[in-house]
Amino acid sequence: MSVHDSTASRLLLSEQGRTFFPSEYQFLLVYPGTYGEAASSLGFLQVLRLIESRPSWSVQRTVLDERGQAPRTLETGRPASDFPLWGLSVAYELQLLDVVRLLERAGIPPLACDRDALRQKQRGLWDQKQVPVIVAGGPLTSVNPRPLAALADLVVVGEVEPVLGDLLSLAERNPSLNEWFEAAENLPGCYLAATQGDVPPAVLKADMNDLPAHAGMWSSKAEFKDMYLVEVGRGCSGNCAFCSMRRSLSGGARFVEADTVLDCIPSGPSRVGLVGAEVSRHPGIRTMVRELTARNVQVGLSSLRADAARPDLLELLAAAGMHSPTIAADGASQRLRDLVHKGVTEQHLLSAVEASADLKFRSVKLYQIVGLPGETDQDLEEMVDLCLRMSARLPLHLALSVLVPKPGTPLGNHVPEGASEIRRRLRLIRQGLKGRARISVASPKWTWVQWKLAQGTLATGRDIVEVVRMGGGYQAFRRVLK
Ligand code: SF4
Repeated sequence: MSVHDSTASRLLLSEQGRTFFPSEYQFLLVYPGTYGEAASSLGFLQVLRLIESRPSWSVQRTVLDERGQAPRTLETGRPASDFPLWGLSVAYELQLLDVVRLLERAGIPPLACDRDALRQKQRGLWDQKQVPVIVAGGPLTSVNPRPLAALADLVVVGEVEPVLGDLLSLAERNPSLNEWFEAAENLPGCYLAATQGDVPPAVLKADMNDLPAHAGMWSSKAEFKDMYLVEVGRGCSGNCAFCSMRRSLSGGARFVEADTVLDCIPSGPSRVGLVGAEVSRHPGIRTMVRELTARNVQVGLSSLRADAARPDLLELLAAAGMHSPTIAADGASQRLRDLVHKGVTEQHLLSAVEASADLKFRSVKLYQIVGLPGETDQDLEEMVDLCLRMSARLPLHLALSVLVPKPGTPLGNHVPEGASEIRRRLRLIRQGLKGRARISVASPKWTWVQWKLAQGTLATGRDIVEVVRMGGGYQAFRRVLK
């Protein structure tokens, strides 16, 4: 048994809820990250489950091999390059590097235009050996699909459920490659840079009938260990100026009925993760947490809105096994929170911490953004003061991110502060807190890279290939992206 086989079988043994049978049409689902991340990515798992629900299809998966080996499937150890049809799920900008690494390690040209040039003699979709068709989707596509579209042959922009079935039905008709691309291009949300250039289609939104996404499996090797993930809603009614989930972009919150969510959860997993931007505002959140506690299942939530973290909800979550609630302030001061329409006050944040302390939670995690437009040292002093008051009640984990302006949001054209200024502000926060909170912080220089990629074009996709060939480090990005 090779190293790959033993690693893959260990991972498969850690999984429950899914059985793999080879079928007529075979699809390769690719995650540009580790197995632990893939097994905790609800979008990736939802696509896996949906394709396998079609009797004539089976899916094998591959992830980025941490030892740099050519990708092989987890299920059978088959080389990824054997599969004519790949589906990639991309969550955030820096994963674009791993998309390039995966393709290059499989011996496949990472640029869609270079693959096109090699396909001259190939006729049918299912004849694609060595030059597979690469379809990509995932959360990144709703922010900016252009750099990804230089790498993938077809990008599904937005939520994939409305077109996934049509793409598979097209493939089942055994079309020529050109027929498949021509038909796919006419489906909503499908973006072929080869013909549509730098102008992607509108972002697709799933119908309520397609919801909720749920995982179909759980694994002891997932980042969310042994946790069954299910969404309670999509989109957000919030209006935060920095966020690509804000209601004008996401179409507002679409909540799934509590009973429908509960019906999706199989018996077996010891933990359930309820997923959604506004999970704590779901009208049935108390019903769901109560019911899962009665089933003897621990409940995890992505994060709580501070204005929804009422004592009765926190009490239910404590009984459901939560040890440390997470809340977001997302602005150093009330002035900044108001400017970006966060809709959360200092009083909401302090009350949530007070209630958590009374209920004997072990700690609290607070998300904060540094670098919002117009941020001053006075704003940062207010953040430090708030954190000190919180940490006087409960051990505090302060998770600091640096603003990455996202296209399409009101802050999309803001030019972020340079890395040295951000480092000065972070020092100010550390000095103010004097060890009274655990601080985790995103790297300011990689934030700059993320920003450049978030604003990128098709040409940026080509730059990423060059960066990877130069080693993929920060200096390579500085040289290539300027
Ligand atoms: S930051 Fe949170 S509350 Fe605000 S729009 Fe985004 S998802 Fe909604």
